[in-house]
Amino acid sequence: MSTFNIAVLPGDGIGPEVMEQAIKVIRVIEEKTGNSFMLHEAKIGGCAIDAAGEPLPSQTLELCKKCDAVMLGAVGGPKWDTLPGNKRPEAGLLAIRAGLGLFANLRPAVIYDALKDASPLKQEIISGGVDIMVVRELTGGMYFGERGRVKTCDKGEAAFDTETYSELEVERIARLGFETAMKRSRKLMSVDKANVLESSRLWREVVIKLSAEYPEVELSHMYVDNAAMQLVRNPRQFDVIVTTNMFGDILSDEASMITGSIGMLPSASLGSGKAGLYEPIHGSAPDIAGQNKANPIATILSAAMMMRYSLGMEDAAKDIEAAVARVLEKGYRTGDIASFGCQVVGTAEMGTLICEEIK
Ligand code: NAD
Repeated sequence: MSTFNIAVLPGDGIGPEVMEQAIKVIRVIEEKTGNSFMLHEAKIGGCAIDAAGEPLPSQTLELCKKCDAVMLGAVGGPKWDTLPGNKRPEAGLLAIRAGLGLFANLRPAVIYDALKDASPLKQEIISGGVDIMVVRELTGGMYFGERGRVKTCDKGEAAFDTETYSELEVERIARLGFETAMKRSRKLMSVDKANVLESSRLWREVVIKLSAEYPEVELSHMYVDNAAMQLVRNPRQFDVIVTTNMFGDILSDEASMITGSIGMLPSASLGSGKAGLYEPIHGSAPDIAGQNKANPIATILSAAMMMRYSLGMEDAAKDIEAAVARVLEKGYRTGDIASFGCQVVGTAEMGTLICEEIK
């Protein structure tokens, strides 16, 4: 039996209420497996600004560095919207990713059978199920490259942003792509723009070179514009997608949209070690905070990802995911995914129903 230390950062808005449900699930897994989870709560985002004057207090970061994994709710809200960019709650998110050296973001986009009506795509396109994992590079490329403004000879201004990737940066994210594919159906799609961008040509070279170490994985390549189109034309052709920071930002949002609900989607951010940061993709939803209306499933599925990727507890991850599917099949829904004839439940009830299924 093992003991795991987990930093718990509920954050703002609906963060604490959805996190409470994920903790209930973690406690059920603890009972079922005999492993111990030591949970250490700390502040991030707006509540940290109120308590300590900054969105990521150094105590929070130090705690996270010592833990096996970090669970995060959501940050932000109207109360802090007028603060300057680097003082806002969301700055805490960038700081924690950088502070923990998390260079990869894994976002699954799954259409559950019971929720297929929620997808904006036609039934014939998604029938048979969609299950995509986007592996996005998180700390390089355009969002971190050199940028600036220069004066032009016509007395105007020009602006530039640069996309830079080193072999090392590409290799480590590509490796994670191959490793992820090995745990799934052994198909990897690398998305780039190698017909135009030099950084993409290097990306493709490195991915191809690395593929020699993974002969079991079927590797293919697609240009990003085509990938954006194919995701809505035939999403079932994709399994694992590995791509750059900017392309991944756009494609993972597109992939999540085809599932139909933001309240269902978890994510993991990983670095070179086993420790990772697990959070729902949604924000703090101030419009429904404190009303027992938020869907806790994205956070609960983030806990499942934590079991899989940081704690080596694949069976527990599958248990949680299967319990979520069964609760949905039985017709229970939070308001955001409600449809005709289903039974609408609150945040806490949904958490309890999933716990009962796991037991
Ligand atoms: P949001 O994701 O918070 O909400 C968008 C819409 O989806 C709202 O109508 C909300 O009620 C609904 N929604 C979101 N999560 C839900 C859930 N679990 N269950 C049911 N409904 C849900 O995005 P926003 O409104 O653009 O941003 C609100 C705040 O959150 C802002 O301060 C923003 O900066 C912040 N934000 C934080 C994160 C994060 O912490 N990772 C991500 C995005 C936005």
